Amino acid sequence: MIAVLMTGGVWLFEWCRPAVTDSDLSGRWHNVKVFILLLIGLAFAAPILNQCAQLLPSISLLERIAPDWQSKGIAGGILATLIYAFIWDFFQYWTHRLEHKYAALWAFHRVHHSDAHMNASTALRQSVGGALIGFFLTHIPTAIICGGNSIPYVGSLILFSGWGYFNHANVRLSLGPFTRIISGPQWHRLHHGKEAQYHNSNYAAFFPVLDLFFGTLRLPKKEEWVETGVLNDVSPLKPFKQAFFSWCNESASIENTPHTHTPETPSRLLGRQWSRRGYRKQLIRKLQRAQWFLHRPAWWRIGRRSGE
Ligand SMILES: [Zn+2]
Ligand SMILES: [Zn+2]
Repeated sequence: MIAVLMTGGVWLFEWCRPAVTDSDLSGRWHNVKVFILLLIGLAFAAPILNQCAQLLPSISLLERIAPDWQSKGIAGGILATLIYAFIWDFFQYWTHRLEHKYAALWAFHRVHHSDAHMNASTALRQSVGGALIGFFLTHIPTAIICGGNSIPYVGSLILFSGWGYFNHANVRLSLGPFTRIISGPQWHRLHHGKEAQYHNSNYAAFFPVLDLFFGTLRLPKKEEWVETGVLNDVSPLKPFKQAFFSWCNESASIENTPHTHTPETPSRLLGRQWSRRGYRKQLIRKLQRAQWFLHRPAWWRIGRRSGE
């Protein structure tokens, strides 16, 4: 309910000063429906996710190294929240980048990118699979380092949840010199850019310095408000399919996957190791033998077509 109210609140700003003209309210309602289905899906997955969270060590790595990292007072609380948020965003950055790199992960993440009219409600448009990927690749590693039930955790959760509505907003607002420091609506809009020239950039959720550090930062030009969406999205899915079966989309092909990567990065090394040892080929062969999915969804064909 809070999420829907927040998108409504940001919508007022979007209505007053839109980045691009968008009078289509049905797209926002679609995103809310996907979000409700996402919550239902996660409610079913919650017992398993809770069990996984129980397996985490009771003392975090950071607590072992620096027991007083969560210092007292308001300033200490803000600092600890920022530390937590930065570590969370570090893992989010790499999870996000892998989602753009590998077709099997992109099949889930593309739901978020398929909004051709990006606005605050696009933050709600996530598939259940995408949320689970985020849980295991971002939330769990962050919790191992920083702990799961701390005040910084709650602070970061509020920060990132709220910020998502702001940096997806269809609002003509440039953060000026702060663009390099905080993820704003113009900066994140480039990440959602439909054309290939915008792919592979601006993966961070809050700290653009991560993109700067890993070579994927792209700063918006003056008055650059790009068109958003996915190229050749021929069969947009219904909310239920988007939330639960996002890979069942004929246009979810590798050609439409913004999967490019800059070289000289750890991900390139990871990719090389992965293919050199043939793990991926082995996995695909085993899955083929097992006839894992009888109807062979789109992302399955992608793996075969790309010849890997
Ligand atoms: Zn993305
Ligand atoms: Zn986004």
